[in-house]
Amino acid sequence: MPGTVRPVLIYPEPILKQVMAPIQAERIDDVAADLVETMRSFPGCVGIAAPQIGELSRIAVVDVSGHRKAETSNGLLVLANPRLVESEGAETAREGCLSIPDLTANVRRATSIRVAHARGEVRCSGFEARCVLHELDHLDGILFLDRVASLVDDLFRRQGYSGGEASSPGEPAPVAGGEATAAPGSARA
Ligand SMILES: [Zn+2]
Repeated sequence: MPGTVRPVLIYPEPILKQVMAPIQAERIDDVAADLVETMRSFPGCVGIAAPQIGELSRIAVVDVSGHRKAETSNGLLVLANPRLVESEGAETAREGCLSIPDLTANVRRATSIRVAHARGEVRCSGFEARCVLHELDHLDGILFLDRVASLVDDLFRRQGYSGGEASSPGEPAPVAGGEATAAPGSARA
């Protein structure tokens, strides 16, 4: 059943700082459908987590397929009650967030991960791993701002909001930024 596009909560909405509770199995399909629909309503958006649409449960969706930063992709990922079970490497790259539309930041993340979830297990690397880790953070009330090493050097004002979530690695763009979305020269999730 197709989901509904839901309004996205914007920082400093308190729900975004809360730790989510496990999602009941019978609710996974409905919430996932709304998450997918909402994610796809923003061009270039590669992921969204339940608290961003006001659902207080541990579920997020990610889909980096077709994104220019994605070297590998598992397609649409529905991550219900996800748990990070393996994590390797480290890379710093630019991220943005639907819930923090005015800023992007350089964030250090693992480059290779394994995540167990209600319906299986998935391995991700590079940009996809970054996006998944960004969404997993949302389920614990952690925003990319909480992971910025230096507010002076690593935070950037977005010139125009293009609607991406999770971000795009890399792109130097001081005070110009751009999320990892499809916008040229911008960086997402
Ligand atoms: Zn986000």
